[in-house]
Amino acid sequence: MTGTPHTARIRVREPFPAVEVTLLAMCAGGVALGFADPDRAPLHVARTAGLAAVPVLLTIRSFAAPSLSARRGRRAPLWVPALAVASAVAIQAAGGAGGLVTALGFLAIGAGSLEAGQRRTLPWAAALALAVLVPGWLGIAAAAPITAQVIFALGLLLCAVVPGHALTRERSAHDRTRSRLRAMEDEAGGLAHETHIEAGQRGSSYGAAEHDRDLRAIARELQEDMERACAVLVSATGALAATVYRPSADGFEHRLAAVAMAGETKHVVAEVGAREGIFGAAFKAGSPVFLKSVHNEDPRIVHRVDASELGGVLAMPLTDAERSWGVVVLDMVDADALDSVGRELAGNIADFVARLITRAVDLTSVKGGMREKDAFYEACREVSRHVRIDAITEAVVRSAGQFVHMDACAVALCDESGERMRVVAHSGFDPEPSDAPFFVTPSEGLLAQAVRHTTAIDRPDVASADRPPLLFGSAVGPTFDLSSLLVLPIVAPGGGLPLGAMVAARRTAPAFEPQDPERLQVLLHQVGAAISNGRLFAEHESRGVTDGMTGLPNHRRFQEVLSSKLAASGRTRLKTSLLLMDIDKFKNVNDTYGHPMGDEVIKRLSRLLADTVRDGTDLAARYGGEEFCLVLDDTDAEGARILADRIREAFKEEVFVFSDGGKPISFRCSVSIGISTHPDHATDQQQLIDLADQALYQSKEGGRDRVTCWKDVARSAPGERTPTRTTRPGATVF
Ligand code: GH3
Ligand code: MG
Ligand code: MG
Repeated sequence: MTGTPHTARIRVREPFPAVEVTLLAMCAGGVALGFADPDRAPLHVARTAGLAAVPVLLTIRSFAAPSLSARRGRRAPLWVPALAVASAVAIQAAGGAGGLVTALGFLAIGAGSLEAGQRRTLPWAAALALAVLVPGWLGIAAAAPITAQVIFALGLLLCAVVPGHALTRERSAHDRTRSRLRAMEDEAGGLAHETHIEAGQRGSSYGAAEHDRDLRAIARELQEDMERACAVLVSATGALAATVYRPSADGFEHRLAAVAMAGETKHVVAEVGAREGIFGAAFKAGSPVFLKSVHNEDPRIVHRVDASELGGVLAMPLTDAERSWGVVVLDMVDADALDSVGRELAGNIADFVARLITRAVDLTSVKGGMREKDAFYEACREVSRHVRIDAITEAVVRSAGQFVHMDACAVALCDESGERMRVVAHSGFDPEPSDAPFFVTPSEGLLAQAVRHTTAIDRPDVASADRPPLLFGSAVGPTFDLSSLLVLPIVAPGGGLPLGAMVAARRTAPAFEPQDPERLQVLLHQVGAAISNGRLFAEHESRGVTDGMTGLPNHRRFQEVLSSKLAASGRTRLKTSLLLMDIDKFKNVNDTYGHPMGDEVIKRLSRLLADTVRDGTDLAARYGGEEFCLVLDDTDAEGARILADRIREAFKEEVFVFSDGGKPISFRCSVSIGISTHPDHATDQQQLIDLADQALYQSKEGGRDRVTCWKDVARSAPGERTPTRTTRPGATVF
């Protein structure tokens, strides 16, 4: 990012500075001398000078600032001052008595003024010419020279004051133009300054909402600046319209981005082909293209519905060192009105617009960089915050896309032997990858290859490859509709065999940026460390008997207790019921309110279960994740169902409050429960667990928030076993 505020100033030429002052001084001098001594020669000199001064000065003015003329930069032709001077000399030769000559002089002033753009002078000049002639014809000039003198002085005065007044108004319009340009420059400087500060800012947390707001503000400011620049162009060059067209994202079109028009005009077109007509010509030339003879059906004029109003068009490409930002188009009624000075001015403003766009784009990318940087640190923090492997991998899938643009992401982990792997978290793939294990051999696809060879695979070209890529094993088959892929191994900090691999995929966007693999790899280093820790943690926890998060007995303890209870019930012939429960749609809770809130829900259910079995004979344990179990002594299926329903109802009553940036959002959760009873349904421990699991599956299938007993499952589908729902913790460690 270039943070240097620009210093170049836009130049607007001043109109001849003291026209009106000079005119008024001449008139005053003429009038004073006339009153002092009507017959003396200085009067004639003053008259001559005064008479000649008006068109001469107007002509000079029109040369000095053609762009500020009301008639679009038209210069007074040279014959005007010549005629005026000639008439003044004729007056002088006639000894100051030539009323007709004086009148002609006034008319010459009027004509000159008209040519110089001051239409209002003409009627005055005509009226005064008459006023000079009529007294002459009536003999007033000879009879009352003072009256004739007053009329003459008045005429000169008005001929000077009217264009003088018009000039003053133009000057103030011109001053406004200058101050608008200054303001634009200051804003651009401010923009650069802001960029500088933001780029240097550290440690602040820059969220998605702030990011969106900033980008909108940058776009809005740029839009306003471009519109202002168009208005300045119109007012400064006398153009009919000034428009800025910016390229579309694919570069095939130019779209109307800003427009300013002088008065009513025919519509400009909102979208033009990037290489069409004058746009293509300007792009090819890389410099302004000026069309001087434009006609109505002109094929080069692609940005107007109708070119009948136009006499000339100037198209100026907007470029900085290596980028193209679009085209500024200036529509002129009269091509000749845009002389080299006007074109230079237009070129300056176009450069200025290009600089504004460059700044806005750079600022946007700095903001984007900040956002990505922040998202990157946040992803690293999030990953290392978790100890549970599923939470770690879900965090990777959720957060990687925040700092590297991708349409789909998946993480697959190897089992303990390192021979098989399976997808444990994914997002954006269609169809979704299954969690069926596949072998770590190259024939099973790119993830397996990345793990087998501990290597990153960058495929920017999958869309054009002969075959769609195989990612998740041959059982799942190839994945379609991807344009580029990055597959990276996940390695533990000490090295050794990879723990798994991650795939990031894009569907339509261009290939990944060169820095993307490196950034993802840095995140994956954290992931490797977190997974290693998570496995150690799980191992320690399973060696102990208590679940760290909930304080309930853990899965291992549950197996031990169930085993001893079943052994005892074999002796006592008492029934033992097993309840397996799973929180409904729990992933939604994590996704919507975050994992800490998910943990809170788990803890609340744990407390409820602990309270339910307080008498010490029954056992409530955390089975794994958001699944819990209850072992009920001396309880048949019906008794278990009553207790299960009570738990289900009580849990539904719990209200959870999530604070969404200070705004509380409350929600509730539910559980599904499956029941099996020993020895009525199952005779051994594993079978008892499987049947409770199948009953739980039935509860989920039946719509969740319900209790199902194995005997209901057996009754509804005799002889047919419901599939076991999930792979149980401890079966295979992924
Ligand atoms: P279903 O109704 O079918 O059970 O839908 P579900 O979304 O609850 O699906 P499933 O039971 O498969 O999802 C379990 C999720 O629970 C996945 C895992 O990320 C999350 N989870 C497991 N253990 C924890 C934990 O200790 N804390 C949090 N916050 N989430 C956990
Ligand atoms: Mg579950
Ligand atoms: Mg669940």
